[in-house]
Amino acid sequence: MIMILMQLMKSTSMAVGVAAALAVTGCAAPSVEGAGESPRVVAAFYPLEWATGAVLGDHGSLSTLATPGMDAHDLELTAQQVASVAEADLVVRLAEFQPAVDEAIDQSGTAAEVLDAGSVVELMPAPEEHDHAAEEEHADDHAEEGDEHEHGDFDPHFWLDPTRMATLVGAIADELSAIDPDNADDYAANAAEAVSELEAINQEFTDGLAQCERTEFITTHTAFGYLADRYGLEEIGIAGIDPNDEPSPARIAEIHDEAELHGVTTIFFETLTSDAVASAIAGDLGLETAVLDPLEGLTDASPGSDYPSVMRANLEALETANGCS
Ligand SMILES: [Zn+2]
Repeated sequence: MIMILMQLMKSTSMAVGVAAALAVTGCAAPSVEGAGESPRVVAAFYPLEWATGAVLGDHGSLSTLATPGMDAHDLELTAQQVASVAEADLVVRLAEFQPAVDEAIDQSGTAAEVLDAGSVVELMPAPEEHDHAAEEEHADDHAEEGDEHEHGDFDPHFWLDPTRMATLVGAIADELSAIDPDNADDYAANAAEAVSELEAINQEFTDGLAQCERTEFITTHTAFGYLADRYGLEEIGIAGIDPNDEPSPARIAEIHDEAELHGVTTIFFETLTSDAVASAIAGDLGLETAVLDPLEGLTDASPGSDYPSVMRANLEALETANGCS
């Protein structure tokens, strides 16, 4: 009894120590509930949360490390969120995208299974001019089982390709079935339902973007490379792959030329960041601005309430901007 108590105290103080090192003052109230029903699953940010929740269904408990109203790049963790990683049975993350999450996993001593989305979906390299983002994360060197992707620069935004999301859903189902075999049939059925929804979205994008006046689209945050690649579009990003990058005057001049060359009608900006750059460029050229949501986090301002509805809103926005029939 005393030994168990001491172990409990030890693990609690360890978690608090890590939390203190990672916590940022002035954070909003944590979105985690502490120990929930088993299997306890933690998802690092919204698209991973959606995919995990779809498979989990009524079973277990799911919390997310994402902070409402923040894009996934800027993630910082509260003490309770770090504790939720320590207590989890499964953590679903994208390694090297959010250093705070990788650190919480490495330092909390969690016994959780860790599913790295980058080890199950094919990641694309980052666009060449924006190769600084992943560099600094190399310092955090962690060996991990089943981690197959190259530890180089990659574009993290795979979730904007519904077919890659379907692959992730399948991997989550396998992982949950291994952790909780009693409910494996339910996980398989839930996954099949989610995959069929993702396949429907894929078909809608394929059909909706097949006949358009132009294939180029201009975005502030270069988050739509996977979507562009899947559906034969060309994304022209104003800033980099990190939404906090500021475009240079030279880049803005290039964007003016690109917009005129391709007859672009719309400058897209995203829900979670300022539309100042998009508005300034659109104003100079007499173009529209519209939202294209990278789905890094949902807010009341998002053009939908979940992954499928925001993806469909994105499709509609692209069809309008590109003159699709
Ligand atoms: Zn992003």
